[in-house]
Amino acid sequence: MAFFGYNDPRNALLTTQTPENAYHATLGEAVAALYAAQRTPRDVPLHLVSTSPFLTKAITTKLAGWEDGGWIGVPHADYLAALANHLRQRCAVTTVRHASTPWEWKAIDWIRDRACPLLLNHPLEVVRPTSNPSFRLSGARLASLTQATAYKGILATRRPPARQGTARNVALALAALAPRQQRSSEELWTSLRHKDIRHQVSDFLWKTLHSALRVGHFWAHIPQYKDRASCTNCRCEESIEHILLECTAVGQQQVWTMVEALWLKTGLAWPGMSLGTLLTLGTKTWTNPGSKRRREGASRLWRILVSESAYLVWKLRCERVIGHDDSPDWQHHELTVQRRWHAAIDARLQLDIASTRHYLGGRTQKSDVVLRTWNKVLEDEIALPDDWTRFGFLVGIAPVRLREHDPG
Ligand SMILES: [Zn+2]
Repeated sequence: MAFFGYNDPRNALLTTQTPENAYHATLGEAVAALYAAQRTPRDVPLHLVSTSPFLTKAITTKLAGWEDGGWIGVPHADYLAALANHLRQRCAVTTVRHASTPWEWKAIDWIRDRACPLLLNHPLEVVRPTSNPSFRLSGARLASLTQATAYKGILATRRPPARQGTARNVALALAALAPRQQRSSEELWTSLRHKDIRHQVSDFLWKTLHSALRVGHFWAHIPQYKDRASCTNCRCEESIEHILLECTAVGQQQVWTMVEALWLKTGLAWPGMSLGTLLTLGTKTWTNPGSKRRREGASRLWRILVSESAYLVWKLRCERVIGHDDSPDWQHHELTVQRRWHAAIDARLQLDIASTRHYLGGRTQKSDVVLRTWNKVLEDEIALPDDWTRFGFLVGIAPVRLREHDPG
């Protein structure tokens, strides 16, 4: 957004408005508007023109409800409450609107062009949500308080401090995101509950992000079980990162080799696998190289493929370490790993096909979503009809073999 009213080019703040960072864009608008209100003399007219309807709706229609509810559960509450406080102190005309005329868009572009070099060449300035106590409304209006809102408010005052391991994993995951795909930690947690990720797998990923799995360091301080802290295969301290991405026991490397081989069939680059990439699989959106157009099918395949594969690596490790704890040298056979992985991914494909059919409680997935997801990764795809989700077609994922067993 940009704002006008005080003739100083440094007053121009920029926020970008893309679907990927809508959370940050609305936060940016709230902060930019607050900055404008703080810096513009109260007796000088202020006209806020924003690139999205968020600010207009917030100030004109939602503000009263948020104040009645004591700002409980409102995103960017600190900045919006401070903005309302500053606007109430003003005596000159103040307007806020969503840019609609070509002139306004042109003016926003003009200001963005001039603000960019200033943003790059000047130190960043922190905008603090300051407010005047005489104009501050505090608490929630009892008459408009529901039991659910009150409960949320109580929980917000008692929020426990974040666990060290959780904070570390969240920071690591957010750092793995590209600048255009940045997310808040709330969005990261929600993304692990994506409907494309099976509940069991989602629980596993949630525990991984929370650092709540009983591996490695967890056992280091329990006298009788200290030896469980080490990987029985590699003789180093075990961690979830070691299990999923580094362990040399048969399993993880084979699984990721097959994932990469299948993924490359989509025509998209393999980004490599790290714990951060894994934990952000629910937020990842894929586009064709050099294009901004999203490939929703590929993004969905990514969620299914990576989540199921990570969970399989975890299951294989548990079978080896817990299921065969009496024989520390026991390992899976590579062919078993190959079959198990194919079966896991194929099961998701068959589930997708079944979900497009109108029996057992109705269709839950549209055929074109399923077709787009598995496009290019099916066996003998060229011989299949356009809509292979219909009855009577046998469909499976393209065979991907480990190099050692690949006859070609
Ligand atoms: Zn290991």
